[in-house]
Amino acid sequence: MTRTRAVDHPDGQLRSGLTARFEEAFGAAPDGVWQAPGRVNLIGEHTDYNEGFVLPFAIDKTAKVAVRLRDDSTVRLLSTFGDQGMVDAELAGLAPGSGTKGWGKYPLGVAWALQQREITVPGFELLLDSDVPLGAGLSSSHAIECAVISALNELLGAGLSAEEMVLATQQAENSFVGAPTGIMDQSASLRGSRGKAVFLDCRDQSVQLVPFDAEAAGLVLLVIDTKVSHSHADGGYASRRASCELGARLMGVPALRDLALEQLDDAARVLDDTTFRRVRHVVTENARVLETVERLATDGAGSIGGFLDASHVSMRDDFEISCPELDLAVDTARANGAIGARMTGGGFGGSAIALTPVGLGQQVRDAVVRSFAEAGHTAPDIFTVTPAAGASRLA
Ligand code: ADP
Ligand code: MG
Repeated sequence: MTRTRAVDHPDGQLRSGLTARFEEAFGAAPDGVWQAPGRVNLIGEHTDYNEGFVLPFAIDKTAKVAVRLRDDSTVRLLSTFGDQGMVDAELAGLAPGSGTKGWGKYPLGVAWALQQREITVPGFELLLDSDVPLGAGLSSSHAIECAVISALNELLGAGLSAEEMVLATQQAENSFVGAPTGIMDQSASLRGSRGKAVFLDCRDQSVQLVPFDAEAAGLVLLVIDTKVSHSHADGGYASRRASCELGARLMGVPALRDLALEQLDDAARVLDDTTFRRVRHVVTENARVLETVERLATDGAGSIGGFLDASHVSMRDDFEISCPELDLAVDTARANGAIGARMTGGGFGGSAIALTPVGLGQQVRDAVVRSFAEAGHTAPDIFTVTPAAGASRLA
């Protein structure tokens, strides 16, 4: 996917990678190059829109964008992924539902969200090169948006803080792209830090960086991309959200974040069975995030396996957002030595994570691949991730 090649630059320097390819495509050097990572969520699923807690981290897979401002209002976009050709668009009259197709909606959504903030956005040329897998639940879309907003924020001197960029990219995804997502993904991508997980309170957007050092505990974090598309998840997501809102209303709290573990007995009496189980997932998941944060600080990465396991069971049985491939990945990883495993992301497909002793990494990989073949599932993609730095300028 990532083809890099080196070319001789007129100044005699060997220029490589994105800058050279940008010059080839657009005939001039970019104003700069920015990167923003994808993310994996260690724990805290479907807690974000309930104003609760999440614990994602930025991963060592990134979207890089080379950008050059133009002096008109034309946008020209090119990706190194696939054979999609140039996307041309006009910034004047940009509006949600104006028919932007394909991946152009992510950079254009960011431009539109900046316009909503009274920021004048000129035309620009952009070359994207991303190694964040698409649709695997690692937020390749936010990686693009966060790289683009970092670039435009700096090039336009807009002076947006990380918190403001988080809200602008959320507006881009919600209103322009049309995906009803929260603030977790872009918070991890923009505010992540090497070796740290991002403990985010989705109510007030406050962030605490928590050490997550799997290596020190002799562990690796495997991502198992089941290759099951989660794009059909829209209806499931909306109905889970509706159940949570109903549960909060019936329990008389502003959001499920405000419901304590001790109130679950009451909830069982008040709510219908399905709504109760949705509520129980959110309430127990919030508690698991808090415990995980605590244990990471005191006992390290080797102590959190049980929370990952419990999170998966809760999503499988109470929230009902797993699928056979995710369950198989988790069960097989656990049976072969992972100390904890769970599906990660919104559910109905995407990826699972498995916290695994380094020495058993290969065994877990082989066993998962074998079990998928035996079950007749598409072969999964399995790789390790480590907590990496958030968005930054590269050149
Ligand atoms: P996720 O964010 O979980 O990976 P989404 O469906 O939200 O899944 O975003 C995936 C979309 O992002 C793709 O369909 C594509 O439009 C866009 N995308 C991601 N990476 C690239 C890339 N390298 N080049 C072009 N488009 C990309
Ligand atoms: Mg996405």
